[in-house]
Amino acid sequence: MSGLAIITEACIDVKDRACVDVCPVQCIYEFDPEKNVLFSEDEAGSGAIENTHAPNPDAVVIFGDTLLYVNLEECTSCTACYQPDVCPVGAIYSEEQVPDGVTATSYNSEDPNKGHDHTFFIQLSRDVFAD
Ligand code: SF4
Ligand code: SF4
Repeated sequence: MSGLAIITEACIDVKDRACVDVCPVQCIYEFDPEKNVLFSEDEAGSGAIENTHAPNPDAVVIFGDTLLYVNLEECTSCTACYQPDVCPVGAIYSEEQVPDGVTATSYNSEDPNKGHDHTFFIQLSRDVFAD
């Protein structure tokens, strides 16, 4: 499916969950290291868990709970989370538009990591969910 959402490095340690509130299918997950589970909330900070997945330990250890993860099996490509006014740091791209560091024009205007290759996060989004 085209238009799947990919969260990239600008989310690290920002994680304000603005994207969680606009996602209509609750497919944006956070890692809970104490319970060793990926969880999605009904609304950000509500404590109402919508769904959980087991993490892949080899993948989740890379960034742990420092950023959020989109489950690409559940994302409907609705485009809501990567509209320009949602993520304060421009961390979210559609899969086809994740910048590879080659052309400066493909970065979100708020992304502080312009020039970095973000394509690592495409595979990470797939690897981090074990089920
Ligand atoms: S594109 Fe839509 S369904 Fe996919 S993560 Fe973003 S808000 Fe959720
Ligand atoms: S809106 Fe952006 S910074 Fe906030 S949690 Fe989502 S991806 Fe991270």
